[in-house]
Formats: sequence, structure tokens, C-alpha cells
Amino acid sequence: MDFDLNKEQEMIRKEVRKFAQNEIAPVAIDLDETESFSVELTKKMGEIGLFGMFVSEMYDGQELDYLSYIIAVEEIARVDGSQAATIAAGNSLGIGPIYYFGSDKQKKKLLPKLCRGEGLWGFGLTEPTAGSDAGGSKTTAVLDGNEWVLNGSKIFITNAACELSLGATVQAVTGTLEQGKPEYTCFIVEHGTPGFKAVEMKKKMMWRSSNTAELYFDDVRVPKENILGNRGDGFHQMLKTLDGGRLSIAAMGLGGAQGAYEAALKYAKQRQQFGQPISKFQAVSFKLADCAMEIECGRNLLYKACWLRDCKRPFEKEAAMAKLYCSELMGRAANHAVQIHGGYGLMKDYGVERFYRDQKLLDIGEGTSEVQRIVISRHIGC
Ligand SMILES: Cc1cc2nc3c(=O)[nH]c(=O)nc-3n(C[C@H](O)[C@H](O)[C@H](O)COP(=O)(O)OP(=O)(O)OC[C@H]3O[C@@H](n4cnc5c(N)ncnc54)[C@H](O)[C@@H]3O)c2cc1C
Repeated sequence: MDFDLNKEQEMIRKEVRKFAQNEIAPVAIDLDETESFSVELTKKMGEIGLFGMFVSEMYDGQELDYLSYIIAVEEIARVDGSQAATIAAGNSLGIGPIYYFGSDKQKKKLLPKLCRGEGLWGFGLTEPTAGSDAGGSKTTAVLDGNEWVLNGSKIFITNAACELSLGATVQAVTGTLEQGKPEYTCFIVEHGTPGFKAVEMKKKMMWRSSNTAELYFDDVRVPKENILGNRGDGFHQMLKTLDGGRLSIAAMGLGGAQGAYEAALKYAKQRQQFGQPISKFQAVSFKLADCAMEIECGRNLLYKACWLRDCKRPFEKEAAMAKLYCSELMGRAANHAVQIHGGYGLMKDYGVERFYRDQKLLDIGEGTSEVQRIVISRHIGC
């Protein structure tokens, strides 16, 4: 077995870490406080190649392996969950479905702009009455001549209502299958299409400087060729997209845990109480030892899942395990980090409370922790 990263992966870690420290760290607290999505920062992330990392150079991607992309998300999340969310959703949910399932024409039209970070694309699965139960979607698409007519709404869609948003991939019910189950198809819906409205959702507890949207479809007409892949492939496409997306949520958990742990270790070595650094108290050092051990476990689990994916082997179970473990790992690490900082940990200027808040989404987005346990249970034969 070889646990070493290759030279390219090492370089990506080094460069993205430098970028996160120099460009994101100085503004992260303020962007979070003012709940501002930064177009400037997103464009800079595009300039250094953080969008389309696993996409062919033919569409202006970087043509790297999935692990390289995951390392990049991890390094951004080590500094800021919101920017990591923009990157993770931009790649796994925005670019991914178009790249894997789109026609050549769709790819040529959309991917270069998305891969250069000049535009963002949403992934519209969740609805007000269909979250974990994505099969309960109510948004419909009806064929009328050469056009599909969409009606319905989506909620909590990342990257879909900011200055850079160009549109969204939207799952809709297009009919009923023989067994009486709904037929799902995905559509490419561009901003500016009459009847399509994207409204930014504010007042979030976490990921406050990432963009979240409600989408409304009121007799939205799109040409027949806006189907992603084939009619009826929608549900399969969404499940495949979520498998890859779970790896990026795991990377956010791992990176966030690393950031919280490093801040806590640094503080524990500086903060003096009872005449010595608090890191010398076993109650504190054991918390840090647990964090270090769990981060090591999480990294091994996540990188193995990426390795399986890069080898084109099944990775669904491992993706669910990595997503579940790394999300919950960050919860424990961020909790310890705030505790070790004492009262200062509750102050925004110290930065660790942001890890604590940003973590909570990881237990919920792209399949809740309960849903991951259902996926794993099925894989082990329960
Ligand atoms: C900031 C943010 C960004 C997001 N970005 C996107 C995006 O880009 N695209 C997108 O499509 N969606 C997105 N989502 C939606 C997200 O994926 C859903 O919130 C998530 O899947 C859970 O759905 P829900 O919120 O409707 O909760 P529900 O499904 O209503 O779940 C509520 C509770 O019930 C539990 N539960 C439900 N079913 C079961 C079961 N069978 N067994 C045990 N427990 C169960 C859940 O685990 C949870 O604890 C985003 C959400 C947020 C908050």
C-alpha cells in the first residue's frame, strides 16, 4: 500500500492552502458577519483553477483526479466553510451533472464558463415537501410540442441566486412508470427564461457567505434539447451526483475539523492558567489527542473512497461512510475547539465559533446523517 500523495496532489494542497490563508482568511469573519457572497473571491478561486478540477481540458477544466479536487475542498474548508461550499457545490453539483450526463452541445455551451469560475450553476433537487424523500418531488414538466413546460419550486439550492448564477439543473416529474412510480427527468434551465425566478435565502446560521436560493417555475418553457441525458434518467443522475457530492461534504468536514483542531492546539499552548499552558492539563490534551486521532481516521476513510472512485470501482458505501464520519468528526472537533478557547471561543473574532456553526449543515446537506446510516445499513445487508 502507498499512502503518499503524488507530487501534483502535494502541490495542490500547498498552493490552495496558501491561497486560503492569504485571500480567504483575512475576509472570512467579515463576510460571515455581513452575510455577503463575494463575487471577487469566487472569481479569484476560478482564476487559480478551483472549478472544473476533474473536468477535461477540452471544456477548460483541469483534468485532475477526484482526490486532487477533494484535497482542494479540504484546504478551503480548513479556513472557511462558506467558500468551501461555493467550490464543492460548484464542482460536484453544478458542473458534475452537466459533465457526466450532458450532451456535447450542452457541455460546450456551459462548461467553459463554469470551469473558469465566470459563472455558477445550481442543482435543484430539494423541494419544500421533498427533502430526504427526494422521490416525493412535485415539480412537473409537461411536453408541449417541441418544448417542456415546468411548474413547481425548489428550496435551499446552492449557488443559484447570486450575480454569477447562470441557471440550474432541475429534476421534475415527467410521467408515470408502469409500476405507478413517477418518472423523473432533469432539465437545464437558464436564468432569464420567462417564468423562472431565483430568490436568495438569507438569515442562515451557517455558510453565511455562500449563496442559497429558492427557485420558482411558473410555466417555464425550455426547448426539448434542454433535457439532461435521456427522459427518465433523472433519479439515477441525481443519485450518482449525490455520491460524488458526499465526498466533497466529507472533505468539508475533514478540513473544518483540521482548522478547528489547529486553532485549539495553538491556543492551548499559549493560554496560561494555574501557572502553565492549558495544553498541559490532561483534560485539554486528551481532547486534542482525540481530534488528532479522528482526523487521521477521517482522512484515511475519505481518501480511500476517492481512490475507489478514481479507480472506477464502486464507492457508494464508502462515500456515505466518509460523509457521515467526517461530518460528525468536525462536530466533535469544533465543540472541543470552542471549549478549549473558553469564553473567547464564543467570540466571533476568534473564528472557532464559525467552525461550530458551519459544521451543522454537514449533518444535514446532501443526505442527513440518518440517511447516510440508511445507505450504509442497506450495503451491509440489513
Ligand atoms: C445551506 C443549504 C444548502 C443546500 N444546498 C442544496 C442544493 O444545492 N441542492 C439541493 O437539491 N438541496 C440542497 N440542500 C437541501 C438539503 O440537501 C436538504 O435540506 C436535506 O436533504 C434534508 O432535507 P430536509 O431539509 O427536507 O429534511 P427532512 O428530509 O424533512 O428531514 C428532517 C429530519 O427527518 C429525518 N428523516 C427523514 N427521513 C428519514 C428516514 N427515512 N429515517 C430516519 N430519519 C429520517 C432527517 O434525517 C432529518 O433529521 C441544501 C440545504 C441547506 C440547508
